[in-house]
Amino acid sequence: MKKIYKKVLSLTLFIFSIMAVGYTQQESGKLRIIMFGAHPDDCEKAGGTAALFAEMGYAVKFVSVTNGDAGHQVMKGEPLAKRRYAEAQEAARRLGIAAYDVLDNHDGMLMPSLEVRMQIIKEIREWNADIVIAPRPNDYHPDHRYTGVLVQDAAYMVAVPNVEPEIAALKKNPVFLYYTDRFQRPNPFRPDIAVDITSTFDKKVACFDAHVSQVYEWLPWIGHYLDQVPQDKNERIKWLATRYDEPIKPETRAALEKWYGKDRAARVLHAEPFEICEYGAQPNDDEIKRLFPMLGK
Ligand SMILES: [Zn+2]
Repeated sequence: MKKIYKKVLSLTLFIFSIMAVGYTQQESGKLRIIMFGAHPDDCEKAGGTAALFAEMGYAVKFVSVTNGDAGHQVMKGEPLAKRRYAEAQEAARRLGIAAYDVLDNHDGMLMPSLEVRMQIIKEIREWNADIVIAPRPNDYHPDHRYTGVLVQDAAYMVAVPNVEPEIAALKKNPVFLYYTDRFQRPNPFRPDIAVDITSTFDKKVACFDAHVSQVYEWLPWIGHYLDQVPQDKNERIKWLATRYDEPIKPETRAALEKWYGKDRAARVLHAEPFEICEYGAQPNDDEIKRLFPMLGK
């Protein structure tokens, strides 16, 4: 009886892996995820989801499109870029993700140029990505906006062999997703997918805590709340946790109900929603469940 059960199980897994090939680059079914941010601390807004993927053994990479060399009130240039690079590597370690690349483009000066588009195409192809996550191109910060545009411009092109022919094109256009944001124009963010990150919220806070130059120095300075930052290490982490403890919006709760069911959704304390970009592969609900195996669990 046990043997039959095992055979049925392996046959089922085999069929699933064949089906998975239908919309992923990987024949093994082990997904590869790449997330883009403008600065070394931007991808972290999906840190809870990144940590969940990493816990499942999936390959997750963060890419900062600029080196962050303008984000401080005292430091600047190369010493700042170096400090932020080290912070990014520590954040990656705390999340358990495989890699954190920081591209050497200046902070605050990013343009949606062909040169940077090629850098993005290279990153997505070399990672052999199934899922690509980036900001929407509507945002207060020009680097964030252009990172959104640059990743949109790389969608589809990553599968065109004659573009950047020395790096093998992807077999399929990946699924492109947007991080959440608060911007309403020209259209508000739409949570197509919502991931329960209650179990990895502490890792997310710990990864932001690694970005000392940002969360305890620069952002409080530019935001005029430097006087609120605690000095004690443990107090700082507690304070940081309250800053990232945002109430779940009704539309995100509705998405959680869709993917996890009403009972489970009601118990979710922290969530990360994503919107599907129209320029990548368009997964149906079954494919989304395959791409996000943590949904419903
Ligand atoms: Zn940023």
